[in-house]
Amino acid sequence: MITVRIPNQTIRCLNFVNGNWVQGSGERWEIHSPYNGKSIGECHASTAKDVSAAMDFAVKAQKVWGATPIKERTRVLFAFRESLMRDHEEIAHLKASESGKTYSEGLAGLMKGLEVLEYALSLQNIDTGGKLEVSRGVTCEYRREPLGVVANITPFNFPAMVPMWTIPISLALGNAYVWKPSEKTPLTSMRIAAALKEAGIPDGVFTVLQGGRETVEAIIDHPSIAAIGFVGSSSVAKQVYLRGTEKGKRVLALGGAKNHIVLLPDANPEISGAGISDSFTGCAGQRCMAASVLLAVGDAKVIDPLIEKTVQRAASLTLGKDMGAIITKSQVEVLRSAIDRAEIEGAKILLDGRKAKAPAGCEAGNWIGPTILDNVKPGSEAATTELFGPILSIIRCADITEAMKIENSSAYGNACSVFTSSGVHAERVIREATTGMVGVNIGVPVPREPFSFGGIHDSKYGHGDITGEHSLDFWSNVKKVTQKWEKQADSNWMS
Ligand code: NAD
Repeated sequence: MITVRIPNQTIRCLNFVNGNWVQGSGERWEIHSPYNGKSIGECHASTAKDVSAAMDFAVKAQKVWGATPIKERTRVLFAFRESLMRDHEEIAHLKASESGKTYSEGLAGLMKGLEVLEYALSLQNIDTGGKLEVSRGVTCEYRREPLGVVANITPFNFPAMVPMWTIPISLALGNAYVWKPSEKTPLTSMRIAAALKEAGIPDGVFTVLQGGRETVEAIIDHPSIAAIGFVGSSSVAKQVYLRGTEKGKRVLALGGAKNHIVLLPDANPEISGAGISDSFTGCAGQRCMAASVLLAVGDAKVIDPLIEKTVQRAASLTLGKDMGAIITKSQVEVLRSAIDRAEIEGAKILLDGRKAKAPAGCEAGNWIGPTILDNVKPGSEAATTELFGPILSIIRCADITEAMKIENSSAYGNACSVFTSSGVHAERVIREATTGMVGVNIGVPVPREPFSFGGIHDSKYGHGDITGEHSLDFWSNVKKVTQKWEKQADSNWMS
């Protein structure tokens, strides 16, 4: 029995431009639910002409929005929150049905997005700048100003949470916002736009443009786009970063990941078993913070019983109920063949997701079960490539030094976690991990607001983080104002 309500009619997915729903004039495609393969939506891409027309409205609207006091802007965002809260169930089902998440994962993503919204609402009270009399009669002051029109391009795997990382903060800071959702999961964008419309967002301040690569390129190239946020795979993140910065734009592009978990012999078996299993199976492994490589440290006699806890928990999951579906059929094939290759290379299969059965009635969907590969070789595909599915590769390590050497050799740098009962060992992993986010006895170390989210190396191109306090300087300019209003008797360079 699946936990998600799949739409029983085709949803017409539109652009949201200047407060109106309009169809893009580019090519048409269909959206199929990963659960059962059924067509649940249709969409048209936005051409460069569509982008340009939308930008005219956005530029005009931003001038008024940017000049509106933050306390008035946040009134709209408070109403936005109420609308999303009222309809949270319906939105969670919709996003799950198009992305393959379970209902509770769909809801959790929306709730995490709402935390960012709550942080944005607090900016009117906590981000008040600063002013100081720096010498007699002379004051220096910070003023945060909007950038203008900013764009965000988002991936399929979090149809509401990732956009909500940037929508509330950008809007609260006085920018107009242009969103290009994933072409695989565009339906949720209409619900978010509808909630903002209901909340009273002025026409043109919030825009949704559907489409794929061509639409993204038209957005990046448009001269009125001041800054670009991107979240997706590393190869595209790099392309977007280079294209945007080449045009002199501010770009923050978050990419993919290959996250390591260091399992030490002194770990609590219950905490580590659940934490590791939930990390690599949550969202069917389709999240940038999922555990992907388990660095099992120490003698097999001690560490194997800990590994067994993870295997048992992952083996107990029911597809459709505890774990959702994979985004496309072709991605299922990518995962199956990666498992095949790892097996040929000598990995021992502790849990084989290739044999898992689809939930009843969902046989036409995209399914694979949790898979655990043991004795994976460092440097192999299963150890280094982002597979983006519920696959955990175990690499045996003699000690922490060997484990950290493997972790440090990764091209990515999103997250690393350690499971241990020793503070000394935990501190060592925190210090030595070459990642932007580190967890201790936590399988998915996603920072919660007001702490910022962001990796390093190939997991992020650009500076700063995408949420929390370290995102504010990305989505705004800080103007430094120095003033003097009185004549002084003796003048020097400080006056
Ligand atoms: P993707 O890179 O295929 O697509 C992301 C966005 O880029 C989509 O909107 C898509 O339409 C657009 N796009 C695709 N190809 C493009 C191109 N050549 N030029 C311009 N735009 C293009 O990613 P995905 O498959 O939707 O999402 C999964 C990936 O996202 C994984 O690698 C995952 O790790 C990553 N991700 C990272 C984070 C993070 O915070 N670092 C969060 C979520 C997902």
